[in-house]
Amino acid sequence: MAEQKPYRVLLYYKYVPIDDPETFAEEHLTFCKSLGLKGRILVAREGLNGTVSGTVEQTQIYMDTLHRDPRFSDLVFKVDPADGHAFKKMHVRPRKEIVALKLEEDIDPHQMTGKHLKPEEFYEALQDKDTIVIDARNDYETQIGHFRNAILPDIGAFRDLPKWIEKNLADYKDKKVLTYCTGGIRCEKFSGYLIRAGFRDVSQLEGGIVEYGKDPRVKGKLYDGKCYVFDQRISVPVNRTDEDVVVGHCHHCGKTCDRIVNCANPECNKQYICCEACEEKYHRSCCDACRTHPRNRYDLERKQKNEERKFDTAGRI
Ligand SMILES: [Zn+2]
Ligand SMILES: [Zn+2]
Repeated sequence: MAEQKPYRVLLYYKYVPIDDPETFAEEHLTFCKSLGLKGRILVAREGLNGTVSGTVEQTQIYMDTLHRDPRFSDLVFKVDPADGHAFKKMHVRPRKEIVALKLEEDIDPHQMTGKHLKPEEFYEALQDKDTIVIDARNDYETQIGHFRNAILPDIGAFRDLPKWIEKNLADYKDKKVLTYCTGGIRCEKFSGYLIRAGFRDVSQLEGGIVEYGKDPRVKGKLYDGKCYVFDQRISVPVNRTDEDVVVGHCHHCGKTCDRIVNCANPECNKQYICCEACEEKYHRSCCDACRTHPRNRYDLERKQKNEERKFDTAGRI
């Protein structure tokens, strides 16, 4: 498939020792800014996790440069063509973990992790009746799309997942288990956690939903709805067959809908599903308190538009 869009979004991670995350982060930020990239990168002693956007040329230089570093020579980039930047700023932050699972006793995915399944293998495994499929993402992500028949933990943060599993799935340790997440990074640790917790047969989707949607053989089959992403695109398509469906319901009226908006109350900013009619009716606000907030952005935008319209009309006269 020829790539014609002028920009690209890169999604990538690698668990590899980084000795001095603070210095690495500082230097990496300077490097990314010099290229003109925008995005969010986390650095820890255990590795690197990032999403960045830039022109085709900028992102190419970035990938080539990282690949020349022995630590990242085999780093896998998931590349999505885009019309523009997917972020407003460039951040590189040192952290304790590259995804916060915050286990009392940490997991090193090089020591303990589930079997890696390629999209095609995962697709086959999904159809095994004796297998349970666990979505390792948060509730605000799974509400607009997930694998068919997957277990969707109602958690708001990844670090809450182990407790949820202990409470709800302790009796399933003899079952075959499949896990998946957006790009694969969360499952590296989560599947390791499951094994340590006593689950006997644990596999994870290599490259996550994003790679699954790109695979030319499976074409996103058995995935319903869209995939939530942590940038301005908010979601990307996955299933490229005719079984594509809309997953999700408008928070206000309940209509089938997968349109995610940010609540217009700048102090709330919650992402929730809202249809176009309800956006207007409820001023893009998740609740009454947000709708009547003095700095409601929907109201401010409307006011501004009205001013511009007045000005336009006046100009024409
Ligand atoms: Zn609605
Ligand atoms: Zn709100």
